Amino acid sequence: MSRVYNFSAGPSMLPEAVLTKAAAEMLDYEGSGQSVMEMSHRSKVYDSIIKEAEKLLREVMQIPDNYKVLFLQGGASSQFAMVPMNLMTKNGKADYVLTGQWATKAYKEAARYGDVVAAASSKDKTFSYIPKLDKSSFRPDADYVHICMNNTIYGTVYHEIPDTGDIPLVADISSCILSKPIDVSKFALLYAGAQKNMAPAGLTVVIVREDFIGNAMDITPTMFNYKTHADNGSMFNTPPCYTIYIAKLVLEWIKNEIGGLEKMQEINEKKAAVLYDYLDSSKLFKGTVVPEDRSLMNVPFVTGDEELDAKFVKEATAAGFVNIKGHRTVGGMRASIYNAMPVEGVEKLVAFMKEFEEKNS
Ligand SMILES: *Cc1c(COP(=O)(O)O)cnc(C)c1O
Repeated sequence: MSRVYNFSAGPSMLPEAVLTKAAAEMLDYEGSGQSVMEMSHRSKVYDSIIKEAEKLLREVMQIPDNYKVLFLQGGASSQFAMVPMNLMTKNGKADYVLTGQWATKAYKEAARYGDVVAAASSKDKTFSYIPKLDKSSFRPDADYVHICMNNTIYGTVYHEIPDTGDIPLVADISSCILSKPIDVSKFALLYAGAQKNMAPAGLTVVIVREDFIGNAMDITPTMFNYKTHADNGSMFNTPPCYTIYIAKLVLEWIKNEIGGLEKMQEINEKKAAVLYDYLDSSKLFKGTVVPEDRSLMNVPFVTGDEELDAKFVKEATAAGFVNIKGHRTVGGMRASIYNAMPVEGVEKLVAFMKEFEEKNS
């Protein structure tokens, strides 16, 4: 068996220890005689899995008690509608910061349900930076401000949580959840599709302060109402059972093998530094993001020559560094280096890049 280094933006790598454990438990989960895929979501054995997953997430992320954790389906993209339907209900207004494609999709979807404005945007420079924001950037009577914390396609991140004063803050954290500690208490709501840094596709995690539940618009479908899921422990209907189980294994890995999110952050900073330091010193490759807003998770870079980019992607793939082609709107390459990417994967990639630079300059 040989495994590649997978730099995919999502779905992405999972820790090998998690895959090994899942494989060992595949046919007979803890003496139940069944796979987790096969068991009733109402069974006692499954109940302990989903409860443990929530407990671990609360512990690892230090989620305060006045927040609900919801395990949903529909992807982060469904949250683009669920957030306004549930939260844009006081004044019918919300302010969005446009830092990339996902943020823009969220904005366009919310605009279907109320008075939504783009408070700021970095579209003028292909979303290569995070706009400077302060309280005056936002309408004081907005029901919430929405940001996309880590911009998966463009490789930018908010290193500081923007100050929105008294306006509730909502963030899409799909591509940075569990990458480092986050102060949940600063947010009304956080959401993340699991397939970047937490589990396989199929699970969306919503962390919402209790007082933002129960005020949904009348038009809200039952399945899009946070109250439906909060009142039923994410068991109103069949949850994505197996994906939640893998999320539990990933959380155990972070807690027990990594040692928590501070440690995870150290490792992620080390990995990113290996790549950014090389990009800053290379004469061939360069990063596309302003240094102060660089993501720890997604690192886009280019040579400036499309043919050379294509050649690099081809040779890298053949050498076992896969899914490194950049998003079509940025071009070049993108290395997504989520939690499960080992340090040596990035070190080996950089060694390969150095070799490529020597041969092609
Ligand atoms: C991948 C991604 C999405 C879309 O997630 P789906 O689960 O496919 O709907 C939204 N926002 C961000 C930041 C992402 O990285």
